Amino acid sequence: RSEIASFRECKSIAIMGGTFDPIHNGHLVTAEAVRHRFNVDKVIFIPTGRPAHKAKRQITANEHRYLMTVLATMRNQNFEVSRIEIDRPGMTYTIDTIEALKQMCRPDVRLYFITGADAIHQIMNWKEPERLLSLCDFVAVTRPGYDRERLYGDIREIKEKFTSRIHFMEVPALAISSSDIRNREKRGEPIKYLLPQAVEDYIHKFCLYQDKEKDEVKFM
Ligand code: ATP
Ligand code: MG
Repeated sequence: RSEIASFRECKSIAIMGGTFDPIHNGHLVTAEAVRHRFNVDKVIFIPTGRPAHKAKRQITANEHRYLMTVLATMRNQNFEVSRIEIDRPGMTYTIDTIEALKQMCRPDVRLYFITGADAIHQIMNWKEPERLLSLCDFVAVTRPGYDRERLYGDIREIKEKFTSRIHFMEVPALAISSSDIRNREKRGEPIKYLLPQAVEDYIHKFCLYQDKEKDEVKFM
């Protein structure tokens, strides 16, 4: 079953992009909340290739991040994982991904791009923000420590500039982040219940996040 076949039928799709290094319950809770609120047919998780803004840190092999995302989304019929970014060489830009995805969908599909409140602040620095904002709605979800006033300010500014649809959504404040999970794993602290059991098992099986060498295991 190809990606193309499954996306063709969807009237609305939410896109959850991320490094997913590793994917965790914060991502999953957010995706499910957005699916429910906007009644989308599917949430597509798109593990990033080489994100332009995270170029400094050595990220875990694409195939590991992809497989962890597949494992994490297994129990939700409405969740899918796309290889669109990890199979594309070079730097990752959201605009290219959205355009490629749109090609695979019905022409009248409605797209929602999910992003943490932290990322909304930076949207104007992304590649071609204007075109990006015209192609999809944005859903800005809060995460712990966000500055509500600043977020509202940003959203207002973007709306005035681009008359685009930006939605604001509070999800249960999960103080979970991939970087915290990586650090916990490195220090031998528990990561259980912060992410799906299958992902924890995968991390242990492949000794991810324990030291630099193992972290950089090449899959392909
Ligand atoms: P890192 O700590 O390495 O930055 P992360 O936990 O932020 O990782 P990403 O893969 O960078 O995970 O996040 C993908 C998307 O999910 C981003 O839009 C981010 O804002 C959002 N996100 C991450 N963690 C949470 C959370 N706990 N609650 C809600 N949204 C989250
Ligand atoms: Mg992050």
